[in-house]
Amino acid sequence: MFCINQRTIKKEIEIKGIGLHSGQPVKLKLIPSQADEGINFVRNGVVIPASIEYAKGFDFSTTLIKDGAVVRTVEHLMAAFYFTGIDNVIIEIDAEEVPILDGSAVQFIEAIKKAGIEILKAEKLYAVLNKEITVVDKDKYIKGTPSHSFSATYHAHYNNRVIGNRKYTYSNLKSDYENVAMARTYCFLEEVEMLQQMGLAKGGSLDNAVVFSEDAVLNPEGLRFEDEPVKHKVLDLIGDLYLLGFPLIGSVYSFKGGHRLNAEFVRKVLEEKAFDLKYSTELDFNGINLMPVQ
Ligand code: ZN
Repeated sequence: MFCINQRTIKKEIEIKGIGLHSGQPVKLKLIPSQADEGINFVRNGVVIPASIEYAKGFDFSTTLIKDGAVVRTVEHLMAAFYFTGIDNVIIEIDAEEVPILDGSAVQFIEAIKKAGIEILKAEKLYAVLNKEITVVDKDKYIKGTPSHSFSATYHAHYNNRVIGNRKYTYSNLKSDYENVAMARTYCFLEEVEMLQQMGLAKGGSLDNAVVFSEDAVLNPEGLRFEDEPVKHKVLDLIGDLYLLGFPLIGSVYSFKGGHRLNAEFVRKVLEEKAFDLKYSTELDFNGINLMPVQ
């Protein structure tokens, strides 16, 4: 029998950068936390649990709001916690938006690995999907199906020639996590002006996002993977799913979904009590593959 315990970080971590949408400089301080405390942001003295309950804004990123305190663009950091198996941590943030860094989750993961992962004396809990859940928005949908392990599929369907019709599935294998974690945020050139008129993407540049024109990638270094955009969508999905409060066990399939639909899916899973909380020792499979502690 295998038993997986909860995790936090070994010591404090400081991460500086700028917000993708706000363009503002920001400093994060990640602080170790006790078992069963969960993931909590602290902004202007307000504790905002990283929970779907507080997810309120979905314009090109996921925003948490509680008692007037706002934390934007939490999804890549949440995915980094998911990948490193961090269940408990405090994130002090001195501006409104989590730094975008290179547009992926890889720098968060490297910082966590460098600080080290602490194993706590409490068993990890998983949310095991117990029935099918579907959310639909016009031609987009997300469907969750019970399964013995976690997988997340994104199916992109763009007219844009460089992205086109593509699918990628993450399953809990090491190479998969590395692929997904490295995939950067992207946007289309024709969206840039619209985003900026909406007051978004003020911190965006070719250093933290992939920009596509009709038929080309504008970044001089090109793509990290041929299917980097669809892998990034999987990264966003995984980060948003972690707002459930527990790692999910089930197969999730997203056809063209975005942050709003991701959040709707998580909310429906909660509302319909579509999961059972189980300890790792109650799970009858080897579908859990957590990043090793160094
Ligand atoms: Zn993203």
